Amino acid sequence: SLTAGIVGLPNVGKSTLFNAITKSQVEAANYPFATIQPNVGVVEVPDHRIDRLVELFHPKKTIYTTFEFTDIAGLVKGASKGEGLGNQFLSNIRLTDAICHVVRCFEDPNITHVESSIDPIRDIEIINLELILADLQTIENRISKVERKSKTTNDKESKMEMALLNRLKPHLESGQPARSLETTEDETLILKNYNLLSMKPVIYVANMDEEGVMDPENNAFYQAVLQYAQKENSEVVALCAKMEEELSSLDEEEKALFLEELGLPQSGLDRLIKKAYHILGLCTFLTAGEDECRAWTFKKGMKAPDCAGVIHTDFKRGFIRAEVYKFDDIDQLESEHAIKEAGKLRLEGKDYVVEDGDVMHFRFNV
Ligand code: GDP
Repeated sequence: SLTAGIVGLPNVGKSTLFNAITKSQVEAANYPFATIQPNVGVVEVPDHRIDRLVELFHPKKTIYTTFEFTDIAGLVKGASKGEGLGNQFLSNIRLTDAICHVVRCFEDPNITHVESSIDPIRDIEIINLELILADLQTIENRISKVERKSKTTNDKESKMEMALLNRLKPHLESGQPARSLETTEDETLILKNYNLLSMKPVIYVANMDEEGVMDPENNAFYQAVLQYAQKENSEVVALCAKMEEELSSLDEEEKALFLEELGLPQSGLDRLIKKAYHILGLCTFLTAGEDECRAWTFKKGMKAPDCAGVIHTDFKRGFIRAEVYKFDDIDQLESEHAIKEAGKLRLEGKDYVVEDGDVMHFRFNV
């Protein structure tokens, strides 16, 4: 499964956020597939559509889909030169699919900042630079492999790759992440193969104090992070890690009450989970019945048989067709019977591209 790695300088609130995640962790009884390592937190993806299906079907079992965070502690200045176990951390980041970059936007004289002042953009750039420097090493290795071939043969692919590398190198050298380089579709495919650290999608987590988080629009630190992120097409989530940690130790009812008192529609962690899911191009299809209402994750663009395979490989192998209706239709019409009457149930074959919010029944041969 896909995972988002939590990174950041020391003392910015990473562990506090990761504690909030592990306290919100799914119960292994419901998710036996989620083998859980100490640095991994598996959380449910909040989904109001499941809540609504539960109202309509009264199932015996309700299962949300999940998302995984990995704690990658201790990335510091000089990591790309192997400082502070640097290489270990960089290779841990390489194993993740997206980066949650926690930045300190709270002031607290009692908590030391490694750079001794609060300056989120400086902090962001310290870490981004390490990722970019590591990528430059990767690129230089690649150049030494491709350069000769592109010069001495007529191989079109290596010529195209060399042209890309010749643009990418100065781009990285000027301190810009690989993800902000404009590329053609073919070039994007080549780039993906390098598995560059600065190519991964990023969510900046602006960690604010309790007051700041109530009104982030008027917080200069948050605004600076937002502007920085917009320039490179990254996302930002403002939250207060301490508050999230407290929230996550409450039960569902207490949590809802607490949020209501604060006038917040959802927790910061829930917003972070949804954004991480979104930037990875993940979508949800639903299955509904009296036994179970359940959300399943698929990659945008997947066809019906592959989605069937998310549930069980047998469903994919023996796929005949899918019966599909839209969540919005059942939300309105309130029963599968009414869906059929209204002609909203569709039969789809193996070429059907599943959409977010589809409610699926798969027909298959065993
Ligand atoms: P890490 O080194 O990045 O993992 O940072 P920690 O999560 O250990 O946090 C460092 C210190 O900052 C701890 O004492 C936390 O309690 C504190 N801290 C974390 N988040 C907040 C916050 O939102 N507000 C305040 N005031 N302190 C926080």
